[in-house]
Amino acid sequence: MTFKELNLSSEILKALDETGYTKPTPIQAKAIPVVLKGKDVLGCAQTGTGKTAAFVIPMLEQIAENKLRDRQNKVRGLIVTPTRELAIQIGESFSEYGKYTRMNCTVVFGGVKQGKQTDSLKKGVDVIVATPGRLLDLMQQGFISLRDIQHFVLDEADRMLDMGFIHDVKKLLKHLPKKRQSLFFSATMSREIIKLSNEILDNPVEIAVTPKSSTAEIINQSVYFVDKGNKKNLLLHLLEDQNLNSVLVFTRTKHGADKVVRVLNKNKVNAAAIHGNKSQNARQKALGEFKDHKIRVLVATDIAARGIDIDELAYVINYELPNVAESYVHRIGRTGRAGAEGTAIAFCDATEKPYLKDIERLINQKVKVIDNHPFPLVDVNAEIAPKEQHPPRRNKGRGGSSTSGSKGNKRYSRK
Ligand code: AMP
Repeated sequence: MTFKELNLSSEILKALDETGYTKPTPIQAKAIPVVLKGKDVLGCAQTGTGKTAAFVIPMLEQIAENKLRDRQNKVRGLIVTPTRELAIQIGESFSEYGKYTRMNCTVVFGGVKQGKQTDSLKKGVDVIVATPGRLLDLMQQGFISLRDIQHFVLDEADRMLDMGFIHDVKKLLKHLPKKRQSLFFSATMSREIIKLSNEILDNPVEIAVTPKSSTAEIINQSVYFVDKGNKKNLLLHLLEDQNLNSVLVFTRTKHGADKVVRVLNKNKVNAAAIHGNKSQNARQKALGEFKDHKIRVLVATDIAARGIDIDELAYVINYELPNVAESYVHRIGRTGRAGAEGTAIAFCDATEKPYLKDIERLINQKVKVIDNHPFPLVDVNAEIAPKEQHPPRRNKGRGGSSTSGSKGNKRYSRK
C-alpha cells in the first residue's frame, strides 16, 4: 500500500514525500479511506503507531475540499487532546502535512497567556487543536464557536478520563453540531471509554492496531527490588553504563521528579524534569534538549510525559511504580515504539509490591527480577502504600504550551 493508493491530493502527497514517509502505517492504511468516506471511527491505537497522521491527513483533505466549495472562513475541524505537548505535536503535524494546502490551524492550551492564541483565532482558522480547559475558557469568552465544526477528533480518550476531563468533554459535546464526523481514539478500551464513545460516535467503524498488551510484549522488562532510600543509588549505578545514553525516568510526583534531577545533576549526570509545575517554556526546552541528546536523563510524571514522541528512546526507568497498572503500560510504551527495541526497568520497594502484582496481571506476564545488584531490598516490611492516590485530580497538568518544540519524525520506519 502506498499513500498514492489512498487517493490523496497532490498537495498532501508532496508534503508526505518530504517527510520521508514511504508508506502508510497500518492505522493510516485502515483509517484514512474510512475517514475520507465520512464515516465515524472508533480507533484503538497508541501513540507511536502513526495515528496522528491517520486523522490529520483525511481531515486536511476533507476540509480543503469543503473550503474550496463554499469559500467561507470558519472553524471546521476540532481536535481535543489531553495534554499541551500532544496538542503542540498535532499542530505541528498539521503544518507539516498541510503545508501545501491553505489550511490554518491554531493550537489552544492553558498555562500560558491567551493573547497569542486569541490573536490567531481572530485572524480566522480552519482547524483548532485544543486541550479541554482552555478551549472551554475561550468559548466562554466568545473567541471560539463550535457552530460550524464538521470534523471532530477526541484523541487519547482514556487519558482524558484519567485526568478528570470527562465533564469538560461532555460540556464540549453540547456545543458541537449534531451533524458532524467524529473520530475517537484511545489506547485502551475500558467499559467507561466505550460508553463515552457511544455518546459521541454514530455507527462507527472500529479500527484497532495495537492490542493493549502488545507493547508490553515487545519491550524487554525487568524489575529491581530496592529500598526506597536506595533508589537514587541504584539509578546512579545503572547510569554508570554509558549505553544508557537517553533515558526517560518516571516518578509519581512532581516533587519526586525534582528530587531525582537534583541528585543526578549533583552527580554530574545531565538531567531535567518535565511536569505540570514547570513553565511551558521550561518543559519545551527540556524536551528539546533531551531529543537533541544534550540532556541524558529526562525525569517526568505520567501526565507530562503522555504522548511525548521521542525518537530512539531505548530506556524507560520506573523510579516509582505507578499505582494504576495501565499507567505502567503507557510509560513503557514511550520506548520500543513501532517495532523498535526498548528496555523498561522498574524499581520496586516493599510498599510497591502490590502495584507490581497489578501490573503483571494486566500485562499477563511476570516481569523478570534482577537480583544481582548492589542495593538489594532489606526493609521488606515497609508500610504498604495507599491505593487511592490515583487518578490525578482534574486541573493537574491541564494544557499550556508554546508552539515551538521539535517533533520526532520517521519513527515508524525505524527498525
Ligand atoms: P504518532 O503515533 O502519530 O504519534 O506518530 C508516531 C511517529 O511516527 C511520529 O514521529 C510520526 O512522524 C511518525 N510517522 C507517522 N506516519 C508515518 C509513516 N507513514 N511512515 C513513517 N513514520 C511515520
